[in-house]
Amino acid sequence: MTKRNNSGSGRQSLARIRADEAHFLMNTYRRPPIVFTHGQGCRLYDSQGRAYLDFLGGIAVNALGHAHPRLVRVIRREAGRAIHLSNLFHNSYQAPLARKLAAWSGLDRVFLTNSGTEAIEGALKLARAYAHGKERGSSAPKTRILALENSFHGRTFGAVSITYPAKYREPFAPLVPGVEFVRLNDIADLEKKFDGSACAFVVETIQGEGGIYPVTQDFWDRARSLATQNDAALIADEIQCGLGRTGRRFAYQKFGSLPDVVAVAKPLAGGLPLGALVANERFAAAFFPGLHGTTFGGGPLICAAALEFLTVIEEQGLMGNVRARGAQLCKGLEELAARFDFIQEIRGEGLMVGVDLTVDGTPIVEEALRRGLLINCTHDHIIRLLPPFIVRSRDVDEFLEKFENVLAKVSKNCRSTRKPGPIEMKTQEPALMAATR
Ligand SMILES: *Cc1c(COP(=O)(O)O)cnc(C)c1O
Repeated sequence: MTKRNNSGSGRQSLARIRADEAHFLMNTYRRPPIVFTHGQGCRLYDSQGRAYLDFLGGIAVNALGHAHPRLVRVIRREAGRAIHLSNLFHNSYQAPLARKLAAWSGLDRVFLTNSGTEAIEGALKLARAYAHGKERGSSAPKTRILALENSFHGRTFGAVSITYPAKYREPFAPLVPGVEFVRLNDIADLEKKFDGSACAFVVETIQGEGGIYPVTQDFWDRARSLATQNDAALIADEIQCGLGRTGRRFAYQKFGSLPDVVAVAKPLAGGLPLGALVANERFAAAFFPGLHGTTFGGGPLICAAALEFLTVIEEQGLMGNVRARGAQLCKGLEELAARFDFIQEIRGEGLMVGVDLTVDGTPIVEEALRRGLLINCTHDHIIRLLPPFIVRSRDVDEFLEKFENVLAKVSKNCRSTRKPGPIEMKTQEPALMAATR
């Protein structure tokens, strides 16, 4: 790529940015040599003016795409009023946002956070506080937390302690004690581990980083009844799959019973950092003033943006678009699966789709990037697609055409002999490796 210095407009050259990042940023992400400067709808543009079709959406965050006029308007307006007031005072937007989240989820009360991982922390603390409130002097401690194998819940200590892949947890030992992992959709394993000593069972309704694996109806039903029987919290992590991604407000709404607590975040404020836990009254009552809190969570600007995000989804019927575009995408991908034998399965719901490969997905992600397509690979061999809810029919067609070309190009080098080994997550981040020319 040419090295153009845009410093006149306050922008630095790609080379300078890469050199400074390598020098001054902690070494936590590997990035391709591209600087994105702006976007519009499902498209992103880099500092060279190249356009990319964005089927990753900032990892399920940019559900209204980029520069959505209604979000831009609200953020501009509120930036000129009050960005932050602290949770010591009322603001105009927390209550209407909480009311809407309660209505969407079927649950009762909301606590607003800055991120997904903070929402998980809040949910775990709520479950522990509830359980301690139930303990009588002599009763056995009720502190165990159950989570699923292949899970991802975040990077802070509580959340990482219930995240399954050892590579996320072990470098930071000792972790929060009392965590036990249950095999996904294995009811016998769940029954063996779920007893009165558990205060919570945390489930991603559809595992995201884990590679788009949904919880089955039977497993959910058993989890619901065991949680009730043991007076433990059934906590749904819908940080990735919730808020319309599946074409429903929450992925769990297909099951016919509710969790006690749900965690949301990624798309909630249209790209601004906001998360929430929503709980039923029984569990929510375990929090009282002073027991839990946050400085940034739920500021006026960000809550106004979240309220606008949810309102746009409702008013524009975007969940209908999610279902229609998701069906169109999966149909096209199934056709590709019939042609390319290294595609072994298409999984997903709505606009949360995994393309499970028998080969390494990294070259596919790299080739896609070279062709102006942003996608992601998780677990080394599962291409993950998380396009914005506003994606149009012709965007999906364009994606399928480009993706087909990508597959045709890399298929020459693919040997479809390798079956994926035991699940071992590679990286939570987009596998956007060096896109050399
Ligand atoms: C992204 C994610 C998280 C963590 O959210 P952060 O905002 O990155 O802390 C937790 N759970 C799931 C299912 C996620 O996809």
